[in-house]
Amino acid sequence: MQSLRFTALEGLAGVDSNLPEHNGKITEVFGSNVFAGRIVREYLSDEAYKSLMNSIKNGTKLERKMAEQIASGMKAWAMKKGVTHYTHWFQPLTGTTAEKHDSFFTLKGDGSALETFDGDALVQQEPDASSFPNGGLRATFEARGYTAWDPSSPAFILEQGYGKTLCIPTIFVSYTGESLDYKAPLLKALAAIDKAAVDVCNYFDKNVTKVTPTLGWEQEYFLVDENLANARPDLLMTGRTVVGHAPSKGQQLEDHYFGSIPERIYAYMRDFEEESYKLGIPLRTRHNEVAPSQFECAPIFEEVNIAVDHNSLLMDIMNKVAKRHKLKVLLHEKPFAGINGSGKHNNWSMATDTGVNLLAPGKTPKTNLMFLTFFVNTIKAVHDYSDLLRAAIASASNDFRLGANEAPPAIISVFSGKYLYDVLQEVKSRVSNKFDEQDEAILKLDLHRHIPELMLDNTDRNRTSPFAFTGNKFEFRAVGSTANCASAMTVLNTIVAKTLTDFKVEVDGLIEKGEKKEIAIMQTLRKYIVDSEKILFEGDGYSEEWEKEAERRGLQNIKTTPKALDAMITPKAAQLYTETGVYTEKELHARHEILLEDYVKKVQIEARVIGDLATNTILPAAISYLNDLISNIRGLKEIGMGEAAYKAQTQIAAKISEHINVISENVQAMIEQRKVTNKLTDSRQKAIEYCEKIKPYFDIIRYHSDKLEFLVDDKRWALPKYRELLFLR
Ligand code: ADP
Ligand code: MG
Repeated sequence: MQSLRFTALEGLAGVDSNLPEHNGKITEVFGSNVFAGRIVREYLSDEAYKSLMNSIKNGTKLERKMAEQIASGMKAWAMKKGVTHYTHWFQPLTGTTAEKHDSFFTLKGDGSALETFDGDALVQQEPDASSFPNGGLRATFEARGYTAWDPSSPAFILEQGYGKTLCIPTIFVSYTGESLDYKAPLLKALAAIDKAAVDVCNYFDKNVTKVTPTLGWEQEYFLVDENLANARPDLLMTGRTVVGHAPSKGQQLEDHYFGSIPERIYAYMRDFEEESYKLGIPLRTRHNEVAPSQFECAPIFEEVNIAVDHNSLLMDIMNKVAKRHKLKVLLHEKPFAGINGSGKHNNWSMATDTGVNLLAPGKTPKTNLMFLTFFVNTIKAVHDYSDLLRAAIASASNDFRLGANEAPPAIISVFSGKYLYDVLQEVKSRVSNKFDEQDEAILKLDLHRHIPELMLDNTDRNRTSPFAFTGNKFEFRAVGSTANCASAMTVLNTIVAKTLTDFKVEVDGLIEKGEKKEIAIMQTLRKYIVDSEKILFEGDGYSEEWEKEAERRGLQNIKTTPKALDAMITPKAAQLYTETGVYTEKELHARHEILLEDYVKKVQIEARVIGDLATNTILPAAISYLNDLISNIRGLKEIGMGEAAYKAQTQIAAKISEHINVISENVQAMIEQRKVTNKLTDSRQKAIEYCEKIKPYFDIIRYHSDKLEFLVDDKRWALPKYRELLFLR
């Protein structure tokens, strides 16, 4: 029987590029499936509208009566659009989104059929929840979980095949109130930074009453022909290729980046963009990325809360739409060895309700001091809690990327750019104990002269930094492409909230002692600059010198997930999270446990896939080719040819047998090690053993398998090769 590889290769030529029908203006469809803006106004009474807006702005609880009215408005809108079902839509710690559909349809006691959707159904649901990760938070006797409506993220309609479903974004908590998802802690972190940042803003502007962090993510991904992907069990099971000989041509010609987008890919992009627009996801940018078959999309930035939902939704849409184009989208951080991996840069800033971007250098000396305050506090936060940022991006799949030479290193550092670096040095050297009002006024003016140049130099980019200032925002580049942005955003907003809160305490202390406000601010900023200087790095983050330099500076360089996660359960982390109200200690431990379990499961699945592929796909191909060689050698001997005639065949046969032996031995040894490690009951220890004792087999087996792929007859090789996966579409 022909292998899937060849069936797939034959099928490839027959794929046509179906373009989506709609070809008009984006504004015609944008947000048409979202219960927001004008639509809300149209379907709600003034009273209900006001109370919903108030709840969104101030996080206040909605009255019962209002929930009833809003539910009925939503139902009317949804039914008009042909919706039959609704679901609470949430983001459990599985890494994907969750839905459980219920229909509007009900039968009343007298047998009459009705479509209903009431306030209760809108506000709360009780999903059959015992199968979501909970890290021991939910003993089986209390397996209930609740999803609760989050009015700050608007409801939307998902269209799929024959059906349309009204989705209500919710948080997911246990019966006893512990958060079981990505959103609940994120919302708490956003509330914490809002309060802390408003307090600090008020030093400069009393009119600010709300600060909203903003996020613009950039999503990188690979696309592979679906049939070719289906012939790679490793791609299907793990999202990455666990074996594969490097193609003759990789990304060395640099001919893919920003190149013209291939027709079939373009059709796919247009299609998922269209779906995204309907859902109000403001996608703006699309382009080819560095590696062959790698692409990127990015939206206009939004409030963090909404941007997080939109990214989760987009990943889901990308997967679904790919099917229509017979493509498989790979969101994994490192689907292919030897070429670039994928990340999800998180561009982050803070905006006030007076319309100011707090990380944009100001127009006057006074607003520049406000900018400097938020800039320095962010750097201080990253310095003080770099271990938590590292933990926030840790996952089995991101381990393949961090530390490889194209991605940000596992060392967390901040790139400020030359101008701002100089500004920080100025503050450091000129602010002293004797610093008086006149010095302060002059320094402020001098800084103001420096800072506007920044605006001209937006090109001062350092692509190797994991956390870079890029003109009017910070860009957290170490986030993995599969990650839910909420992990990184929860940590970042929490640590900046905490730092700003402490900052205010210090400044107020100085003011109480009789210092003038602006001098107190300058002095505290100077202290923060000195305290966090070692996190600033302007050089090449991929270089070996930086690893050494970072070590000298005492910066951490934790390359693997199980140990990076330790930061979550230190006393310092517990204090940070309980003080800011983002996690209780119990929740932190549960989350730590969930992440360790997730790590173990992912590595375990990969180990099994590698064992399977080696045993029943790779070795059989090698042995069958070896048999051919042997009969060829035997035949040549039989007809009386001398050794010289079958010299090459003998050498190849010897090499093949050698690789077969090494693979087989290592698969066995890996299985034995799993048996031992699986007996461990401590999750951390188990994860460390999976990382240090089992994962090393992956590389050995892969090395020999890739050698075999090179040696063995192409026709017998059942797994699509890198050249096919990467270049055929
Ligand atoms: P690049 O980093 O590729 O040069 P841009 O600087 O234009 O591109 O922006 C990259 C991303 O940063 C976009 O997704 C954009 O929405 C986001 N972004 C821009 N300004 C902000 C901001 N104030 N807050 C958050 N994200 C922002
Ligand atoms: Mg960028």
